[in-house]
Amino acid sequence: MRVLVTGGAGFIGSHLCERLLASGHDVLCLDNFFTGRRENVAHLLNEPRFELLRHDVIEPILLEVDQIYNLACPASPVHYQYNPVKTVKTSVMGMINMLGLAKRVRARILQASTSEVYGDPEVHPQTEDYWGHVNCIGIRSCYDEGKRIAETLMMDYHRQNRVDIRIARIFNTYGPRMLENDGRVVSNFVVQALKGEELTLYGTGAQTRSFCYVDDLVEALVRLMNVAGAPEGLSVNEPVNLGNPGEFTIKQLAEEVARLCDREVEIKYCPLPQDDPKQRQPDITRAQRLLGWSPTIPLREGLRKTIDYFAERVKSSDE
Ligand code: NAD
Ligand code: UDP
Repeated sequence: MRVLVTGGAGFIGSHLCERLLASGHDVLCLDNFFTGRRENVAHLLNEPRFELLRHDVIEPILLEVDQIYNLACPASPVHYQYNPVKTVKTSVMGMINMLGLAKRVRARILQASTSEVYGDPEVHPQTEDYWGHVNCIGIRSCYDEGKRIAETLMMDYHRQNRVDIRIARIFNTYGPRMLENDGRVVSNFVVQALKGEELTLYGTGAQTRSFCYVDDLVEALVRLMNVAGAPEGLSVNEPVNLGNPGEFTIKQLAEEVARLCDREVEIKYCPLPQDDPKQRQPDITRAQRLLGWSPTIPLREGLRKTIDYFAERVKSSDE
């Protein structure tokens, strides 16, 4: 098959491109390089079935493809808040353009949605039928509401135009190829610990997140895209939570990173950003039933792989 991955030069996108090539597909990687890097896919450029295209999803494009993974959108609060209007345009206009393409060429499309559609959740753990608790006028809204309207567009194109859709609600995912200055907690803590700097803990660190290693997530994305039928009471077109249900406080994460980096590190307490969700944990019953999938890589193992990656980068930047 010919598969389009928007945001393919980003963190998750580059792992997905690798995986799709290994499965024998032709892969078209589209990116505007806002938070993605050519370097993330440089090792794929000699592969004849791989093509890299610089393009911004807010502009329409005509391509012949069979499947579309729509990942284009900055994911870290630091980056999506840098130009919030552009973030909304990317989610909304990008989604309309990709759905228009899917409709025209009859491609199946998977949207990289997010646990942020649940906002600061009042239901715990979060199930897909929870409608969420989202501030529509805060600093996270450009991302949260952008992703919510993208889901709305997916469902409307499905109902109105019979576009074959898949919606992945991705929970915090981490691993190699996150940016060093990404701003997200795992990369921040790992890079800080490796450089012997203080770990910047926002708030008290009592807020929780559930961290999924990127290989587990990519496996789930591919299964969701290709699942043919659903068991009784489920539909392949409904949103599916994808994440690792292991829940940790951010303080616990800081301690674990320090332990694994084998460093004595100080913690620097910083203000908690506005609307920072207090707790987050996916209920993955739907993914288990629909995809026969559960994550297999525990936090400690995933962190070790991530630390190895950043240790190399920190070392080469010191040389
Ligand atoms: P990332 O920032 O590394 O990747 C996003 C990619 O999209 C980058 O390569 C960036 O350059 C590209 N991009 C941004 N705006 C674009 C535009 N207008 N046109 C074309 N390309 C554009 O982030 P990631 O963690 O790899 O996230 C990938 C997707 O998964 C995003 O849609 C994100 O919202 C979603 N997601 C990620 C997580 C996570 O924890 N990593 C959680 C929930 C959802
Ligand atoms: N966080 C932190 N220190 C950092 C970066 C983030 O304490 O250097 C906290 C942040 O306040 C949030 C959690 O870690 O409670 C996860 O933040 P991230 O930006 O990774 O993802 P999101 O908030 O979007 O889940």
